[in-house]
Amino acid sequence: MTGIYIHVPFCRRKCPYCGFYSEKFDPDLAGAYVCAVQRSMRKYSGRAGVVDTVYFGGGTPSLLEAEQIGDILKSVKRNFALLPDAEITLEANPCTVDQDKLSAIREQGVNRISFGIQSACDSELSALGRLHDWEQGEAAVMQSYRAGFRNISCDLMIGTPRQTFSSLMDSAKRISRLPITHISAYMLKIEEGTEFDCGWVRDNLPEEDQVCDMYEGLIELLGGMGFEQYEISNFSKPGCRSRHNLKYWQGSEYLGFGPSAHSYFGGRRFFVPADIYDYITSDSQEEITEDESPDKAEEYVMLSLRLKEGISFIRYLELGGDASQLFSRAEVFSGSGLLELDGNGIRLTPKGFLVSNSIIAELLY
Ligand code: SF4
Repeated sequence: MTGIYIHVPFCRRKCPYCGFYSEKFDPDLAGAYVCAVQRSMRKYSGRAGVVDTVYFGGGTPSLLEAEQIGDILKSVKRNFALLPDAEITLEANPCTVDQDKLSAIREQGVNRISFGIQSACDSELSALGRLHDWEQGEAAVMQSYRAGFRNISCDLMIGTPRQTFSSLMDSAKRISRLPITHISAYMLKIEEGTEFDCGWVRDNLPEEDQVCDMYEGLIELLGGMGFEQYEISNFSKPGCRSRHNLKYWQGSEYLGFGPSAHSYFGGRRFFVPADIYDYITSDSQEEITEDESPDKAEEYVMLSLRLKEGISFIRYLELGGDASQLFSRAEVFSGSGLLELDGNGIRLTPKGFLVSNSIIAELLY
Protein backbone atom coordinates (compact mmCIF):
# COMPACT_ATOMS: atom_id res chain seq x y z
CA MET A 1 0.00 0.00 0.00
CA THR A 2 1.15 3.52 -0.79
CA GLY A 3 1.39 6.61 1.41
CA ILE A 4 0.71 10.13 0.15
CA TYR A 5 2.84 12.98 1.51
CA ILE A 6 1.84 16.62 0.95
CA HIS A 7 4.44 19.27 1.74
CA VAL A 8 2.76 22.55 2.74
CA PRO A 9 5.56 25.11 2.33
CA PHE A 10 4.29 28.01 4.43
CA CYS A 11 5.17 29.33 7.89
CA ARG A 12 4.24 32.50 9.75
CA ARG A 13 7.91 33.09 10.49
CA LYS A 14 11.05 31.06 9.94
CA CYS A 15 12.36 29.37 13.10
CA PRO A 16 16.10 30.05 13.36
CA TYR A 17 17.10 26.36 13.49
CA CYS A 18 14.89 25.09 10.69
CA GLY A 19 16.26 23.65 7.47
CA PHE A 20 12.93 22.63 5.92
CA TYR A 21 11.71 24.48 2.87
CA SER A 22 9.05 27.08 3.61
CA GLU A 23 8.00 30.58 2.55
CA LYS A 24 6.22 33.30 4.48
CA PHE A 25 2.50 32.53 4.53
CA ASP A 26 0.43 34.45 2.02
CA PRO A 27 -3.28 33.54 1.50
CA ASP A 28 -3.18 34.08 -2.30
CA LEU A 29 -0.06 31.97 -2.67
CA ALA A 30 -1.66 29.28 -0.51
CA GLY A 31 -4.74 29.26 -2.77
CA ALA A 32 -2.58 28.84 -5.88
CA TYR A 33 -0.58 26.12 -4.12
CA VAL A 34 -3.71 24.06 -3.32
CA CYS A 35 -4.74 24.18 -7.02
CA ALA A 36 -1.23 23.14 -8.08
CA VAL A 37 -1.23 20.15 -5.70
CA GLN A 38 -4.57 19.08 -7.16
CA ARG A 39 -3.19 19.42 -10.72
CA SER A 40 -0.12 17.35 -9.82
CA MET A 41 -2.25 14.61 -8.28
CA ARG A 42 -4.19 14.22 -11.54
CA LYS A 43 -0.97 13.16 -13.27
CA TYR A 44 -0.81 10.14 -10.95
CA SER A 45 -4.52 9.35 -11.12
CA GLY A 46 -5.10 5.63 -10.65
CA ARG A 47 -1.37 4.88 -10.52
CA ALA A 48 -0.72 4.62 -6.79
CA GLY A 49 -2.70 1.45 -5.98
CA VAL A 50 -4.33 1.38 -2.57
CA VAL A 51 -3.50 4.35 -0.32
CA ASP A 52 -3.63 3.79 3.43
CA THR A 53 -1.90 6.93 4.78
CA VAL A 54 -1.96 10.64 3.95
CA TYR A 55 0.44 13.02 5.69
CA PHE A 56 0.32 16.83 5.55
CA GLY A 57 3.81 17.97 6.58
CA GLY A 58 5.69 21.22 6.31
CA GLY A 59 6.09 24.01 6.77
CA THR A 60 2.91 24.62 8.74
CA PRO A 61 -0.05 22.75 7.19
CA SER A 62 -2.38 24.15 9.87
CA LEU A 63 -2.04 27.57 8.20
CA LEU A 64 -4.29 26.29 5.40
CA GLU A 65 -8.03 26.79 5.80
CA ALA A 66 -9.90 23.63 6.82
CA GLU A 67 -11.74 23.78 3.47
CA GLN A 68 -8.42 23.82 1.59
CA ILE A 69 -7.30 20.73 3.50
CA GLY A 70 -10.66 19.18 2.58
CA ASP A 71 -10.17 20.10 -1.10
CA ILE A 72 -6.80 18.33 -1.18
CA LEU A 73 -8.32 15.28 0.52
CA LYS A 74 -11.11 15.25 -2.08
CA SER A 75 -8.42 15.16 -4.78
CA VAL A 76 -6.72 12.27 -2.99
CA LYS A 77 -10.03 10.37 -2.99
CA ARG A 78 -10.75 11.22 -6.64
CA ASN A 79 -7.35 10.12 -7.90
CA PHE A 80 -6.37 7.27 -5.59
CA ALA A 81 -8.00 4.29 -3.86
CA LEU A 82 -8.00 5.73 -0.33
CA LEU A 83 -8.91 3.15 2.32
CA PRO A 84 -11.86 4.15 4.55
CA ASP A 85 -9.72 3.63 7.66
CA ALA A 86 -6.65 5.43 6.26
CA GLU A 87 -4.46 7.32 8.74
CA ILE A 88 -4.69 11.01 7.79
CA THR A 89 -2.18 13.18 9.68
CA LEU A 90 -1.76 16.94 9.75
CA GLU A 91 1.20 18.74 11.33
CA ALA A 92 0.07 21.78 13.31
CA ASN A 93 1.67 24.73 15.01
CA PRO A 94 -0.17 25.49 18.29
CA CYS A 95 -0.46 29.21 17.55
CA THR A 96 -2.31 28.66 14.25
CA VAL A 97 -5.34 26.77 15.60
CA ASP A 98 -8.30 27.28 17.91
CA GLN A 99 -11.23 25.11 18.95
CA ASP A 100 -13.35 25.93 15.87
CA LYS A 101 -10.53 25.40 13.40
CA LEU A 102 -9.54 22.07 14.96
CA SER A 103 -13.18 20.88 14.82
CA ALA A 104 -13.37 21.96 11.17
CA ILE A 105 -10.12 20.12 10.33
CA ARG A 106 -11.43 16.99 12.05
CA GLU A 107 -14.69 17.24 10.06
CA GLN A 108 -12.68 17.28 6.82
CA GLY A 109 -11.46 13.76 7.66
CA VAL A 110 -8.08 14.39 9.32
CA ASN A 111 -7.86 11.79 12.11
CA ARG A 112 -4.34 12.28 13.46
CA ILE A 113 -2.72 15.57 14.46
CA SER A 114 0.92 16.25 15.24
CA PHE A 115 1.83 19.37 17.21
CA GLY A 116 5.25 21.01 17.12
CA ILE A 117 5.26 21.58 20.90
CA GLN A 118 9.10 21.15 21.24
CA SER A 119 9.31 22.03 24.96
CA ALA A 120 7.17 22.83 27.99
CA CYS A 121 9.67 25.45 29.14
CA ASP A 122 8.91 28.97 27.88
CA SER A 123 12.51 30.21 27.98
CA GLU A 124 13.57 27.25 25.77
CA LEU A 125 10.69 27.93 23.36
CA SER A 126 11.72 31.53 23.10
CA ALA A 127 15.40 30.56 22.53
CA LEU A 128 14.14 28.35 19.69
CA GLY A 129 12.29 31.34 18.19
CA ARG A 130 8.96 29.58 18.48
CA LEU A 131 5.81 31.68 18.32
CA HIS A 132 3.90 29.71 20.97
CA ASP A 133 4.38 29.25 24.71
CA TRP A 134 3.61 26.18 26.79
CA GLU A 135 0.14 27.40 27.72
CA GLN A 136 -0.79 27.66 24.03
CA GLY A 137 0.73 24.27 23.29
CA GLU A 138 -1.18 22.59 26.11
CA ALA A 139 -4.41 24.37 25.11
CA ALA A 140 -4.03 23.26 21.46
CA VAL A 141 -3.68 19.61 22.49
CA MET A 142 -6.73 19.80 24.79
CA GLN A 143 -8.78 21.56 22.10
CA SER A 144 -7.86 18.91 19.54
CA TYR A 145 -8.98 16.22 21.99
CA ARG A 146 -12.29 18.03 22.45
CA ALA A 147 -12.55 18.30 18.64
CA GLY A 148 -12.57 14.49 18.50
CA PHE A 149 -8.92 13.67 17.78
CA ARG A 150 -7.93 10.45 19.53
CA ASN A 151 -4.56 10.08 17.84
CA ILE A 152 -2.45 13.06 18.86
CA SER A 153 1.32 13.36 18.58
CA CYS A 154 3.69 15.97 20.02
CA ASP A 155 7.25 16.83 18.98
CA LEU A 156 9.87 17.36 21.64
CA MET A 157 13.41 18.66 21.05
CA ILE A 158 16.56 17.40 22.76
CA GLY A 159 19.81 19.34 23.11
CA THR A 160 18.48 22.86 22.57
CA PRO A 161 20.29 26.00 23.83
CA ARG A 162 20.44 26.13 27.64
CA GLN A 163 18.35 22.97 28.02
CA THR A 164 19.26 20.86 31.03
CA PHE A 165 18.57 17.24 31.95
CA SER A 166 15.93 18.30 34.47
CA SER A 167 14.23 20.83 32.16
CA LEU A 168 13.92 18.14 29.47
CA MET A 169 12.51 15.62 31.97
CA ASP A 170 10.03 18.24 33.15
CA SER A 171 8.92 18.92 29.55
CA ALA A 172 8.59 15.20 28.85
CA LYS A 173 6.49 14.67 32.00
CA ARG A 174 4.17 17.56 31.22
CA ILE A 175 3.72 16.53 27.59
CA SER A 176 3.22 12.83 28.32
CA ARG A 177 0.43 13.64 30.82
CA LEU A 178 -1.63 15.19 28.02
CA PRO A 179 -4.22 12.97 26.24
CA ILE A 180 -1.76 12.00 23.49
CA THR A 181 -0.73 8.72 21.88
CA HIS A 182 2.66 9.53 20.35
CA ILE A 183 5.83 11.56 20.92
CA SER A 184 8.60 12.32 18.41
CA ALA A 185 11.78 13.43 20.18
CA TYR A 186 14.40 14.89 17.85
CA MET A 187 17.91 16.02 18.69
CA LEU A 188 18.65 19.55 17.57
CA LYS A 189 20.94 19.48 14.57
CA ILE A 190 22.61 22.70 13.50
CA GLU A 191 21.75 23.02 9.82
CA GLU A 192 24.24 24.87 7.67
CA GLY A 193 23.11 28.34 6.64
CA THR A 194 20.38 28.67 9.30
CA GLU A 195 20.46 31.42 11.94
CA PHE A 196 21.46 28.80 14.52
CA ASP A 197 24.64 28.14 12.55
CA CYS A 198 26.59 30.62 14.69
CA GLY A 199 28.96 30.84 17.66
CA TRP A 200 26.45 31.99 20.30
CA VAL A 201 24.21 29.00 19.74
CA ARG A 202 27.09 26.52 19.67
CA ASP A 203 28.45 28.02 22.91
CA ASN A 204 25.11 27.56 24.66
CA LEU A 205 24.32 24.02 23.60
CA PRO A 206 24.55 21.21 26.16
CA GLU A 207 27.74 19.08 25.89
CA GLU A 208 27.57 15.89 23.82
CA ASP A 209 27.69 13.55 26.85
CA GLN A 210 24.91 15.57 28.50
CA VAL A 211 22.79 15.14 25.38
CA CYS A 212 23.42 11.36 25.50
CA ASP A 213 22.28 11.30 29.15
CA MET A 214 19.19 13.32 28.20
CA TYR A 215 18.32 10.87 25.43
CA GLU A 216 18.70 7.83 27.67
CA GLY A 217 16.82 9.55 30.51
CA LEU A 218 14.01 10.39 28.13
CA ILE A 219 13.68 6.78 26.93
CA GLU A 220 13.40 5.61 30.54
CA LEU A 221 10.93 8.31 31.55
CA LEU A 222 8.67 7.85 28.52
CA GLY A 223 8.79 4.05 28.95
CA GLY A 224 7.50 4.57 32.51
CA MET A 225 4.68 6.75 31.16
CA GLY A 226 3.52 3.98 28.77
CA PHE A 227 5.25 5.20 25.59
CA GLU A 228 7.16 2.42 23.86
CA GLN A 229 10.20 3.44 21.87
CA TYR A 230 9.66 1.90 18.42
CA GLU A 231 12.19 3.98 16.46
CA ILE A 232 15.27 6.07 17.28
CA SER A 233 13.18 9.23 17.79
CA ASN A 234 9.65 7.92 18.10
CA PHE A 235 7.56 6.67 21.02
CA SER A 236 3.96 5.52 21.07
CA LYS A 237 1.17 4.13 23.19
CA PRO A 238 0.30 0.53 22.16
CA GLY A 239 -1.14 0.36 18.64
CA CYS A 240 -0.42 4.03 17.90
CA ARG A 241 2.81 3.96 15.88
CA SER A 242 2.78 6.40 12.98
CA ARG A 243 1.66 4.21 10.07
CA HIS A 244 2.85 6.82 7.57
CA ASN A 245 6.33 7.31 9.01
CA LEU A 246 6.77 3.53 9.31
CA LYS A 247 6.64 3.44 5.50
CA TYR A 248 9.89 5.44 5.36
CA TRP A 249 11.71 3.00 7.63
CA GLN A 250 10.19 -0.16 6.21
CA GLY A 251 11.05 0.68 2.60
CA SER A 252 7.38 0.97 1.52
CA GLU A 253 6.38 3.29 -1.30
CA TYR A 254 5.14 6.84 -0.81
CA LEU A 255 4.32 9.60 -3.25
CA GLY A 256 5.07 13.23 -2.37
CA PHE A 257 3.35 16.40 -3.60
CA GLY A 258 4.41 20.01 -3.10
CA PRO A 259 7.74 21.86 -3.34
CA SER A 260 10.61 19.87 -1.75
CA ALA A 261 8.47 16.73 -1.27
CA HIS A 262 10.36 13.46 -1.66
CA SER A 263 9.00 10.21 -3.10
CA TYR A 264 9.90 6.57 -3.29
CA PHE A 265 7.56 5.37 -5.98
CA GLY A 266 7.75 2.88 -8.83
CA GLY A 267 11.10 1.69 -7.44
CA ARG A 268 12.62 5.18 -7.92
CA ARG A 269 13.58 7.93 -5.44
CA PHE A 270 12.83 11.48 -6.59
CA PHE A 271 11.98 14.92 -5.26
CA VAL A 272 10.21 18.12 -6.28
CA PRO A 273 12.38 21.28 -6.48
CA ALA A 274 11.99 23.61 -3.49
CA ASP A 275 10.41 26.55 -5.33
CA ILE A 276 6.79 27.56 -4.70
CA TYR A 277 6.70 29.96 -7.66
CA ASP A 278 7.77 27.29 -10.17
CA TYR A 279 5.36 24.93 -8.50
CA ILE A 280 2.25 27.06 -8.87
CA THR A 281 2.99 27.99 -12.49
CA SER A 282 3.67 24.45 -13.75
CA ASP A 283 1.03 22.19 -15.29
CA SER A 284 2.30 19.43 -13.08
CA GLN A 285 5.10 19.27 -10.54
CA GLU A 286 8.64 18.86 -11.84
CA GLU A 287 10.47 15.84 -10.42
CA ILE A 288 14.19 15.24 -10.10
CA THR A 289 15.48 11.69 -9.83
CA GLU A 290 17.75 11.02 -6.86
CA ASP A 291 18.21 7.31 -7.44
CA GLU A 292 16.82 5.39 -10.41
CA SER A 293 17.12 1.98 -8.75
CA PRO A 294 18.18 2.12 -5.10
CA ASP A 295 20.07 -0.85 -3.62
CA LYS A 296 17.19 -2.37 -1.64
CA ALA A 297 19.34 -4.56 0.64
CA GLU A 298 21.61 -1.64 1.60
CA GLU A 299 18.64 0.67 2.19
CA TYR A 300 17.03 -2.04 4.29
CA VAL A 301 20.01 -2.05 6.67
CA MET A 302 20.10 1.76 6.91
CA LEU A 303 16.38 2.17 7.49
CA SER A 304 15.49 -0.93 9.54
CA LEU A 305 18.19 -0.34 12.13
CA ARG A 306 16.28 2.79 13.14
CA LEU A 307 13.45 0.53 14.27
CA LYS A 308 13.23 -1.39 17.54
CA GLU A 309 12.70 -4.64 15.57
CA GLY A 310 15.91 -4.05 13.59
CA ILE A 311 17.06 -6.24 10.72
CA SER A 312 15.74 -9.69 9.89
CA PHE A 313 18.37 -11.87 8.16
CA ILE A 314 15.65 -13.61 6.13
CA ARG A 315 14.36 -10.30 4.75
CA TYR A 316 17.93 -9.16 4.04
CA LEU A 317 18.54 -12.36 2.06
CA GLU A 318 15.28 -11.91 0.15
CA LEU A 319 16.48 -8.46 -0.90
CA GLY A 320 19.71 -9.91 -2.26
CA GLY A 321 21.98 -9.15 0.71
CA ASP A 322 24.81 -11.38 2.02
CA ALA A 323 23.46 -12.26 5.48
CA SER A 324 26.53 -14.24 6.62
CA GLN A 325 28.81 -11.26 5.86
CA LEU A 326 26.44 -8.95 7.75
CA PHE A 327 26.40 -11.38 10.70
CA SER A 328 30.20 -11.50 10.93
CA ARG A 329 30.50 -7.71 10.71
CA ALA A 330 27.91 -7.36 13.48
CA GLU A 331 29.82 -9.84 15.67
CA VAL A 332 32.53 -7.17 16.13
CA PHE A 333 30.03 -5.30 18.31
CA SER A 334 29.06 -8.25 20.52
CA GLY A 335 29.62 -7.40 24.15
CA SER A 336 29.67 -3.66 23.39
CA GLY A 337 26.12 -3.11 24.59
CA LEU A 338 25.38 -1.30 21.34
CA LEU A 339 23.48 -4.03 19.54
CA GLU A 340 21.79 -7.38 20.04
CA LEU A 341 22.65 -10.16 17.61
CA ASP A 342 21.07 -13.60 17.25
CA GLY A 343 20.22 -16.10 14.51
CA ASN A 344 17.20 -14.03 13.45
CA GLY A 345 18.75 -10.63 13.06
CA ILE A 346 20.30 -7.47 14.52
CA ARG A 347 18.74 -4.81 16.75
CA LEU A 348 20.30 -1.67 18.16
CA THR A 349 20.03 -0.93 21.89
CA PRO A 350 19.20 2.63 23.08
CA LYS A 351 22.98 3.24 23.44
CA GLY A 352 23.44 1.90 19.90
CA PHE A 353 20.76 4.28 18.57
CA LEU A 354 23.00 7.15 19.69
CA VAL A 355 25.77 6.00 17.35
CA SER A 356 23.62 4.36 14.69
CA ASN A 357 25.34 6.07 11.76
CA SER A 358 28.77 4.70 12.71
CA ILE A 359 27.38 1.20 13.29
CA ILE A 360 25.57 1.22 9.93
CA ALA A 361 28.78 2.33 8.21
CA GLU A 362 30.70 -0.56 9.86
CA LEU A 363 28.04 -3.07 8.85
CA LEU A 364 27.85 -1.97 5.24
CA TYR A 365 31.31 -0.89 4.16
S1 SF4 B 1 7.24 26.22 12.07
FE1 SF4 B 1 8.28 24.26 11.65
S2 SF4 B 1 8.64 24.22 9.44
FE2 SF4 B 1 8.14 26.36 9.99
S3 SF4 B 1 10.12 27.33 10.28
FE3 SF4 B 1 9.44 26.61 12.31
S4 SF4 B 1 10.32 24.54 12.52
FE4 SF4 B 1 10.46 25.10 10.33
